[in-house]
Amino acid sequence: MTIVNAYAAQNETSPLAPFTLERRVAGPHDVKIEILYCGVCHSDIHQVRNEWGGSIFPMVPGHEIVGRIIEIGDHVRNFKVGELAGVGCFVDSCRTCPSCLANEEQYCDNGGMVGTYNARDKEGNPTYGGYSTQIVVDEKYTLHVDDSLPIEGVAPLLCAGITTYSPLRHWNIGKGHKVAIVGLGGLGHMGVKFAASFGAEVTVLSSSKSKMNDALALGAHHFAVTKEPATMKSLQGKFDFILNTISAQHDYNEYLNLLTLNGTMVLVGAPPRPSDVSAFSLIGKRRSLAGSLIGGIRETQEMLNYCAEHNIVSDVEVIKASYINEAYERMIKADVKYRFVIDIASLK
Ligand code: NAP
Ligand code: ZN
Ligand code: ZN
Repeated sequence: MTIVNAYAAQNETSPLAPFTLERRVAGPHDVKIEILYCGVCHSDIHQVRNEWGGSIFPMVPGHEIVGRIIEIGDHVRNFKVGELAGVGCFVDSCRTCPSCLANEEQYCDNGGMVGTYNARDKEGNPTYGGYSTQIVVDEKYTLHVDDSLPIEGVAPLLCAGITTYSPLRHWNIGKGHKVAIVGLGGLGHMGVKFAASFGAEVTVLSSSKSKMNDALALGAHHFAVTKEPATMKSLQGKFDFILNTISAQHDYNEYLNLLTLNGTMVLVGAPPRPSDVSAFSLIGKRRSLAGSLIGGIRETQEMLNYCAEHNIVSDVEVIKASYINEAYERMIKADVKYRFVIDIASLK
């Protein structure tokens, strides 16, 4: 067992503060990773504040982890000490159900994936995430990270990256598609990069007028402010595909109405409270409303390889661990460009 430094929330109303936790001894199939950077996802805020319910405390968030392997178990075949490695949103699953066998472990049919934090492992122990200096993970749930990219920009790919890459691939988005990305935050800015890279015509729909130049610099072809009713009206029926990343409750119908005949809106944003959907937003143009959860290990590796090949990373603001509570407040105000990433050296 190793005692490591971390940042934790003690309950749903307390700010995050320094904490120590125990990491298990690396078993035969485990790698032990010295964490270098960890991204800050809006899901961290939802869970720390128990907005989705069922949170386990104390909670050490963080599921956008990049670090260096410092130890491997005897049976580890695919990783070596000294290599860079990544850990995303889950660290285990049942491994035998149809979803796991189809490399879609995030949809595990036997009780779901074991989250990197705010979950319990097979022994019933709570899992702790990447706002910490080390983590021990089965190699099956560990990703290879290319050393050609700036790793602070790679960390957010482990959640924001795969969560946007996976639905764009699943719905075969590419040349000839008009795509809208709703919400320009951590997920949204990665959605813009991937959709543009896949050849789609990309529009950013944002509540923040000030993000226009950034949206275009990230690769979007158009930008529209969602608070302007005339603009929203002019966009009705215009998009084949909408990726909705908004973290707060909002009216889905407003966006469904922007879809063309047979268009699809995929929700990746996970607002704590439900919203009404009118049947008329769907039936008049045979539209679909769908959802998507991160991506499996195989697809996450494919996404990381794609990013290394195409020089894609997240645009980040690197922070010290002690800035985390302020970072949360800024994210809630949609003031992040475009992902906070904790420099884990600040925890040592
Ligand atoms: P984020 O960086 O905070 O970005 C969210 C963006 O949504 C904001 O920048 C803002 O964009 C927009 N927004 C926020 N509040 C809004 C409001 N009241 N009305 C309209 N727009 C608003 O968050 P994130 O890390 O990208 O995460 C986004 C959501 O996805 C969260 O709910 C998170 O839990 C969820 N998530 C889901 C998955 C999955 O697997 N499905 C994975 C990761 C995260 P503008 O300023 O451009 O309007
Ligand atoms: Zn996340
Ligand atoms: Zn399973």
